[in-house]
Order: sequence, then structure tokens, then C-alpha cells
Amino acid sequence: MTRARLAGVLAGALLMIFASACSQPPKADYPATPVPFTDVHLTDAFWAPRLDTNRTVTIPHVIEESERTGRVKNFELAKAALAGATDGKYCSRFPFDDSDVYKAIEAASYALATGADPELEKSVDGLIAKIAAAQEPDGYLYAARTIGGPPPQPWLGKERWSYLYMSHELYNLGHLYEAAVAHYQATGKKSLLAVAVKSANLVAREFGPGRRTNPPGHEEIEIGLVKLYRATGTRKYLDLAKFFIDARGRTAGRVPYENDGRTELLYGEYAQDHKPFVEQTEAVGHAVRAGYLYAGAADVAALTGDAAYIAALEKIWADMAGTKLYITGGIGAAGGWEGYGPPYRLPNLSAYAETCANIATFLWNSRMQRLGLDAKYADVMERILYNGVLSGISLSGDRFFYPNPLASFGQHERVPWFSCACCPPNVARILTSVPGYFYAASNDRVYVNLFAQGRSRMKVAGTDLELAQTTEYPWKGDIKIEVRPAREAEFTLAVRIPGWALNRPVPTDLYAYSEPPQGEPTLKVNGEAFELGALDKGYALIKRTWRAGDVVDLSLPMPVRRVVANEAVEADRGRVAVERGPLVYCAEWTDNGGRISNLVLPDGAALTAEMRPDLLNGVVVIKGEAEAVGEKAGRVVSEKTPVTLIPYYAWANRGRGEMEVWLAREPSKARVVREPGLAAKAAVAASDGAVNPKRANDGFEPESSDDAAGYMHWWPKKGTAEWIDYSFETPVRVSESSVYWFDDTGGGGCRVPASWRILYKAGEEWLPVKAAGGYGLAKDAWNTVKFAPVRTRALRLEIKLQENWAAGVHEWTIK
Ligand SMILES: [Zn+2]
Repeated sequence: MTRARLAGVLAGALLMIFASACSQPPKADYPATPVPFTDVHLTDAFWAPRLDTNRTVTIPHVIEESERTGRVKNFELAKAALAGATDGKYCSRFPFDDSDVYKAIEAASYALATGADPELEKSVDGLIAKIAAAQEPDGYLYAARTIGGPPPQPWLGKERWSYLYMSHELYNLGHLYEAAVAHYQATGKKSLLAVAVKSANLVAREFGPGRRTNPPGHEEIEIGLVKLYRATGTRKYLDLAKFFIDARGRTAGRVPYENDGRTELLYGEYAQDHKPFVEQTEAVGHAVRAGYLYAGAADVAALTGDAAYIAALEKIWADMAGTKLYITGGIGAAGGWEGYGPPYRLPNLSAYAETCANIATFLWNSRMQRLGLDAKYADVMERILYNGVLSGISLSGDRFFYPNPLASFGQHERVPWFSCACCPPNVARILTSVPGYFYAASNDRVYVNLFAQGRSRMKVAGTDLELAQTTEYPWKGDIKIEVRPAREAEFTLAVRIPGWALNRPVPTDLYAYSEPPQGEPTLKVNGEAFELGALDKGYALIKRTWRAGDVVDLSLPMPVRRVVANEAVEADRGRVAVERGPLVYCAEWTDNGGRISNLVLPDGAALTAEMRPDLLNGVVVIKGEAEAVGEKAGRVVSEKTPVTLIPYYAWANRGRGEMEVWLAREPSKARVVREPGLAAKAAVAASDGAVNPKRANDGFEPESSDDAAGYMHWWPKKGTAEWIDYSFETPVRVSESSVYWFDDTGGGGCRVPASWRILYKAGEEWLPVKAAGGYGLAKDAWNTVKFAPVRTRALRLEIKLQENWAAGVHEWTIK
């Protein structure tokens, strides 16, 4: 044994002793480490302005809203309660509102890490002081319970940890730990880290084998515990993360809980608690919970080398990417439980695709990339980021979407805040840290996962390395990467060749391009062609001795591509989506004369890309010729009409109106715009509580009574008498009325009414018409009644709602 070797062994032994005393080094870790966002400086025209807006608008906005809505005051009330006050009352709505403040601090910390901002730092310090003062002496932190008084929700449970299914006690803490680590790393201050450590030590005392075994009902603490472990080296935090994941779907030691009058042991699929994690094979349940669980499990898998975890994650990922991923990267189709629907059930108008779920799945995929070193995960990451995450925030940076639908009839609009406000601070923290998802490095390999102009620093093969990208991505596919090692060194540059450039929009058969590719990606190293033939898991591996000044030129052709969905996706049958590069496009009302759902984009119609610096902060639009389906003299006809598509992320920045990602590919899928009849000329009024009354005469032809588009309703009224009036400037002659009822049996609270009739105005009096037949109550059909002609200035549709149900009207026409 050489002296050097001996010294190494002794050092190792000392480390072991030290480690066993207070912490143990991980057995393993991700084979590639992310290059931190502080070392990746983007100077492009796409991300850099967004990061600026995020820092100057979104983060201050999120902090202000947290203060305005009482989220911050809750901590002050908890402090007062700890000092003996008994009159406090939690002043926001949900017990997880604490977590919005934590996420805001995380976002602000990332901003502080990239540049000094004394005002922001002071504001963060103020928030942390309030949080610290709200922590109970033993480390417990949950403002809603500490304040006492009437609970804001039954979700709190009777006592600490007794109703983890819904209390979000541990969910909040996950965000606390993430914020604490971010703040510590950004500022070097331990103020919030100390709060987190005290809290985590309490959780570690309370939970574990032989103690409490109920896992969190909303995952997130697993990610936070792993970050806390990495920041402090305290092994028990990693073990606790694994314990919580392993506790899912197992009944041993569980304390039952009351739920809707029933006693339950497991939380079920909703909270990924239907079977042990390592036996799970499908992405199910609440999609934010799921995404955080899978991300946390990937962390634990990386740090423990647990093969069963990796196998489960791969199976769940295949199910998600193969059957449950929207083309926009949206995750979670079902609004009812904010989560995953059955395979291939991907409705567009009612798509939930919560911004947080998209973010959670993005985080999961970034971890899967570093775990499996496979570009397929980066393909999904990029799709989610450029489409499903960016759509969650307005171009102005202070308006947000909770669900991110793929079609709209004008009912959707971003808003400044939500009473359940998980999404806005989540977007803020992701956007500030976006540069951290571009590169990952191992000992002798650098992974280039995303593309944008800028410079980055990292270490590889024992040398400092700077990589500089010059590109106009995502608008253009030419990317020049200058490789500048501090000294000559041999290593591999692993450049991701995006799936979309290889004729594969997603790494599964869920979506496919409908036309042959035009052009192939090419790569040059110092001007010489590099053979792309055999990629390694989607990466071009360029292994050589690199010298400063070496240049890699990647060229990704960016033709406009048509995408079709797997036939199993019923919602997209007969429909086509349009992409260019990493961006999914949509047609929005304002560029297309107001209506979208009547458009057909035939196969073969030419589509061209055009840069529009003046539009939506500068976007490439796609132009072509579509057909508009309408009615002339009672016959359905189609007319050629120009169509303009914009990037999906940029929709809903110019007012409400129609939007579609999946355009009709054939006329049968388009909604006919009917010739404006007499009803279209009427002024519409309706009884109190009517929502969207003008939908009654908007000319939309419903597909069925539960069609989610273009109806008016009185929900949540029940059993009342209601009315809609059509009035005219000059008297009209009417002898027929047809109603198409809205009825969402199985999904909502509207049913066909108990009864209805038509009245007309004679002078100041409403008189019933003399109907020739009955007033029909059929679903999925027009209910027409003919009556003795009347001349009148106003007609009334009078409706008696069923005793226990609301009602609604898709369309009311008159002749
Ligand atoms: Zn959310």
C-alpha cells in the first residue's frame, strides 16, 4: 500500500467515523448533476425578458398578493396566539395557504441568487421573521392550527397529524424546506434553514417505523426533505423521505381517519395511496400530488440506488407519456379530482392541465433525465416548459391560469390571483430557476438538454468549462455552441437531438406527425460534419479532446408540422394540431375574425411561418388557408378563409374568445355557424343568477346537451322559476320556437327543466302563446313548438327548474 493510498484510506475511515456520528454520505447519486441556474446566464430574446418580468413583476406581485389576502398575516396571528392571544382567526381560506408564502420566498431567493436586490432581500427577511415567530417551541409550523379559533376548513383534523389525508401539514413543510434551502444557498443566511431544520427534526421524531406511519395526503415533503438532506448532510431527512414514499399504499401501523362519515385507512388512488409505491404502474389521481411524489421518488432512487423505485418510475412514466400527456405538455385531464383521467381521455375544452401539475411533471422529467440519461425525458420537459408551463402566466407576468385548456369558447381568462393560489408562486419559482434545467454534467460528460442563447460555466474532466450558445431558438433551429475549456481536456459533449427534429413529437405513440419530415438535423464540429446516425438515448455524443475555440454547429430544421393523435384519443379524432420546433400552436379568435370552432384545416393546405416582432412580444406566426363552415339558405357550405396560428403559450393575452389547439381536419368536426335567424337580432335579458345569457342566441350548434361549449345556465339555483327574454326594436311576427337544453348529468348540476312555455308581450302584459303541441323536454335534441302567430316586441322563454337541479339553455331560436 502506497503512502498516498494509505492516506486515502485513513481519510476515508475518518470520514466514515464522522459520517456515522452525524450523517452518512449517500451510497449513490444522480449520474449527472444539474449545472445550477446561477452558472447559466441566458441572454436571448425569449427567456431573458421573461426572467426579467418574473423578477420585476411576478415575484413582487406574488408577495403583495400573499400579504393582501392574509396569508402573511396568518403567521402574525400564530405568533400572537403563541404569546397567549385567544381571539385570533385564520384569515385566509385554506390551511395550505402557508405554502404560497414559502414558494414566494423560494422564487425570491432564486432571484437574489442571480443578482443583489436589497429591497427584495429585506422583504424576504421580513417574511422569514414572521414565519419563524409562528413556529411552535417544538418545531411545529402550521398557522391554521396554532392560531386556534374556528378552523377555516374541516381539513385541519381534530389534532396535529390526525387528518393528513387533507390537512396539508406535511405538504406545507415540503415547500418550507425547499424555500429554506433556496434562501440559504442564495444568501448564506440560516434564518429560514433553522426553522426548516427544527421542523424536520420534529417530523422525524413523530413519524417513522414504530411511530406514526400515515403518509402525507399531498406529497411534496419528500422533495423538500431530500433538499434539506443535501444542504445539511443529515441522513435522517433522506431516510424520512423514503419512509414517507414507502408508507404509501400500506396499512401497517396506520391510524384510521374519518372522511365524509366513513372511516378510512388508505387515501386511495386520488393520493397515490392505493398500493405500495414500488407496485404502482400507472400515473393516477391528483396530478400535482402525483408529480411531486414521482419527483421525490426519483431523488430517493438516485440517492439510494433503489432499483424497485426506478422500475416503478419507468412504468408510471410510460403510462403518463404514452396515454395521458396533452400535446401541450399539460397533465391531468379531469377537473373533478384535479388529476389524471383514464388512458387516452384527453378532452380539450374541459382539459384541467393545472399549471402546478405541469410544473410538477416538468420537475419529475428533469430528474428522470439525470437518472436515465435519456433525451426522451428532456423531450417531455421541453414540451411542458415551452407550452404547458408558459401558458400558465400572462405575457405581462401578473395574470395566471389554473387550468390550461386546449380549446375555449371565451370562458377562459387569466386572473391576478386565486383563493387557492398554488399556481402563481409555483410559476414564479420555476421561471427564476429555468436556466438550471439547460445542462447537466457528470465527470467526463456534459449534457446539453435545452437551447437558448447565453453563456454557462461548469466543471468537467477536471477543468473549468464555459459553453456559449448563439441561437434564436425557439424561433430558429440553428444553434452554435462554442466550447471553451480552461485547458485542453478530453470529455464528451452530449447534445440532445430533440425528438421533434427526428419526426417524433413525443417519445411514445400518443402523437405522430402526419406528413413526412422535411430536412434532417445536422451537426458539425469545427466545420466538419459529425455523423448523427446512431444516437445514444437521443444524444449525439461528441467525444474528443476539446480546446478553447472549438465550435459545434447544430442545425434543426423547423418546418411547420401537423400532428395527429393516437386514434384512441377520441377528443382529437378528425383533428389536427400544428407545431413548429418545440412550440405547439393554436388558433385564437382575435387573429381569425372571431370564430375558430367553425374552421377546418384540410390536409395539404400550405402553412408558412412568419416572424411578427410586433405581436405578443415577438412571435413566429403560422399562416395558411382554412375553410370556414357555415350555412347559406339552409344548406351547410364551406368557404376558404385565411387562418393565422400563434404559439399556444401566448393565447389569452388579448381578451376572451375562441381558441383551439386541435383544429377540425374534416368538416364533420367543425361547428357550423348558422345563418343568423330572428333570435340573433334580439336583445337578450334573463332572470337573476343567469350566467352567460347571451349564449342563448349565439348561433352555436351544440353537439349534445352536455356539450361544454356555448351555453347559459342558472346553476346553482334549484327548483326556481326563471326566464330569458328576447326583445326587438320593432315588432316581429313569430310562430315557432326551438330550445336545445343544456344538461350535464353525470358531471354537473344542470338538468332539463321540469316544464317551460313561451310568452309574448302584449302591451305591458306577458301572455302565453297558443301552442299547437307539447313543450318538449328531450335531451340532445331541439325541442320545437309551433304556435298561433303573434306580432310582438318581446318573447319570453319561461322555465320551471326541477326541484333539486339547475337548468341551462344551449340555444333558443325563433321563427
Ligand atoms: Zn396550482
